[in-house]
Amino acid sequence: MSKSKSSESVKVVVRCRPMNERELAANFQSVVGVDVKLGQIVVRNPREASASEHPKVFTFDSVYDWNSKQIDLYDETFRPLVDSVLLGFNGTIFAYGQTGTGKTYTMEGVRDDIERRGVIPNSFEHIFTHISRSQNQQYLVRASYLEIYQEEIKDLLSKDQTRRLELRERPDTGVYVKDLSSFVTKSVREIERVMNVGNQNRSVGATNMNEHSSRSHAIFVITVECSELDDDGENHIRVGKLNLVDLAGSERQTKTGAQGERLKEATKINLSLSALGNVISSLVDGRSSHIPYRDSKLTRLLQDSLGGNARTVMVANIGPASYNVEETLTTLRYSNRAKNIKNKPHINEDPKDALLREFQEEIARLKEQLQKRSGRKKKRRGRRRDGSDGEDQENGEMEDEEEDEDDKADYWREQQEKLERERKAIMEDHSLVAEGKVLLLKEKEKKMEDLKKEREAGEMLSAKVKAMESKLLVGGKNIVDHTNEQQKMLELRRQEIAEQKRREREMQQQMENRDEETLELKETYSSLHQEVDIKTKKLKKLFAKLQAVKAEIHDIQEAHINERQELEQTQNELTRDLKLKHLIIENFIPLEEKNKIVNRAYFDEEDEYWKIKPITRIEDDHQMMSRPLSAVGCRRPLSHYARMAMITRPEMRYKGENIMMLDLDLPARTTKEYQEPVIAPKVAAALESALKDEDEIQVDASGFHSRLGSAPPAGGSLKKPKSSRPRTGKKSSTPTSPYSPSSPGSPLYPQSRGLVPK
Ligand code: ADP
Ligand code: MG
Repeated sequence: MSKSKSSESVKVVVRCRPMNERELAANFQSVVGVDVKLGQIVVRNPREASASEHPKVFTFDSVYDWNSKQIDLYDETFRPLVDSVLLGFNGTIFAYGQTGTGKTYTMEGVRDDIERRGVIPNSFEHIFTHISRSQNQQYLVRASYLEIYQEEIKDLLSKDQTRRLELRERPDTGVYVKDLSSFVTKSVREIERVMNVGNQNRSVGATNMNEHSSRSHAIFVITVECSELDDDGENHIRVGKLNLVDLAGSERQTKTGAQGERLKEATKINLSLSALGNVISSLVDGRSSHIPYRDSKLTRLLQDSLGGNARTVMVANIGPASYNVEETLTTLRYSNRAKNIKNKPHINEDPKDALLREFQEEIARLKEQLQKRSGRKKKRRGRRRDGSDGEDQENGEMEDEEEDEDDKADYWREQQEKLERERKAIMEDHSLVAEGKVLLLKEKEKKMEDLKKEREAGEMLSAKVKAMESKLLVGGKNIVDHTNEQQKMLELRRQEIAEQKRREREMQQQMENRDEETLELKETYSSLHQEVDIKTKKLKKLFAKLQAVKAEIHDIQEAHINERQELEQTQNELTRDLKLKHLIIENFIPLEEKNKIVNRAYFDEEDEYWKIKPITRIEDDHQMMSRPLSAVGCRRPLSHYARMAMITRPEMRYKGENIMMLDLDLPARTTKEYQEPVIAPKVAAALESALKDEDEIQVDASGFHSRLGSAPPAGGSLKKPKSSRPRTGKKSSTPTSPYSPSSPGSPLYPQSRGLVPK
């Protein structure tokens, strides 16, 4: 197979869906005209539908109107692509367009409806039919299904739907999704099941399927590996990979007023899509040496499909109704640019990571193992026969596989029967004592057990070989089948018709161009009148063209301004967010700590994420950092609390807390230290004596009486000096009983001092 290294353009086709019921009911105008023969889409402006503005015309590789059948699209546009995948090329089909214009309809179509099924199911049928008709080739087909939502990759076929996958790059095979599951499929039914499982998983995670599908990209990947012996008897493997991409809706997502999580979401929703646009622009531009593939997951993953080793078809889906005209024009402009991308597809021959090769080698290895086993058995049997019959038996001879199978079965049966016979003989042998019998029986049973095990192991091995072999598909069995033959003819005819149509279209397009050229060439005029006529016509035409171009420039400028405004808005929001983070850092994180973190931070190119280096490796000389104080004597830093708790309750275990240690930042004091007031020594002495504990007071009732009556006695038993104490104070009366002895029998009550006389 020769490798074609020539470049070819991305093929762009446009499909316009029919008006839907809602649009019909609301009586919307159709503003899209589709010229299938010329491959042109004509869009009228609904506002100034009258004479002043010319309709906008776009030319594509082919265009499909609302009457187009799924199978027409497939035969004309997708079949050749899938055919080249079967030859070992990479192929990609993108469906691009506003939500609700038929991307999913084109890619998947209506399930269980042969007429209306889309590219994906049609390609299943195509691939497996091709394999069943092939001869002397071995195929391995596998499928993967993934989704990109908000720049996260989800494997739609994995059991764990919460897991997010990463992109990796290898120099030989390029970018791939790490740990993406892929299923080897043997038939249309099997691969359909894979697709259904993925579709179910896609809708399960989404709260609103419509919104979800309009914001996520779904990629179904079919890998076809084919091995064939060349003329020299050497085995060659070709691998073709088909990416079937249902892109997110291309309409602008409103970002107004978004903040925090919602802003993050809004900025990420169409990141992949705008990155795709940027990649296309810079590829077409020709001036830019840097193609921003790395800006998004989608463009990175499909790097080969855009300007690389792949054949690519882009289907731009549009709606006909007038209220969508802006989006329709945007879609047409976008895909019009994509026409100019040049790819360099070539056949992928004998890649290192071909699964088919692994399968073939594994099968060969297992077969060898099986061979060895049967060899061993035969040897054993040969010996046995030698002994019993004295017949010569050649060892190690190769036999037919079928014979071998028969032999094997015979051998097992013989062995089993023999053991059974021996067991019976022992049972019936009366000469043996019971114990001896039991022993012998046990021995025989063990032998039977071993025999069974060995047999099972052999069977398992051959089952494994069979299972693996069944996954490798070979065709050519029903090639003579009559209906098959007819079908093949029919397909060939259809293909021819498609080819014919394509050529017709190309010729028409060329004729259009030539028409204009010849007009210029006819410069010889028979009369002045004719010259004026022709020149006026020409002028009119050129003027119309000029107007169209001017209008186009105006439109594009407007679109640019819109886009720019949106970007600016996003930028403003992001700057605000960033300022808040700065504010927090500046006010709440000590400078020293901030610097430490900044020094440790680095950007991981692989994961496209900022990361922090482990703490032990921050110094360049690879020294370990000194242990933190809290860790001295322990294996890891421990809090004081944990240490104490471990001493009192040694059975407790504490994990090291993963907390950054910071010294407490004490605030400046706003209070004064307490200062005792300065008291004169006299007052101090008085106070001290007054505040003496009252328990020490002893009251002498008789002394009290005399004290009230006359001058105080000189050295009574009363210890307290009374002079400094106010008479009315409670304390003077509390130690004594209320029945004071002033006049025996009458209690001593304080006198009222109120203003109201009694
Ligand atoms: P998208 O995936 O772009 O959001 P869908 O594929 O879900 O859009 O299409 C929206 C609706 O329009 C669906 O009900 C689909 O059946 C219908 N539709 C789209 N294209 C066509 C078409 N060419 N012919 C008939 N119905 C169509
Ligand atoms: Mg969709």
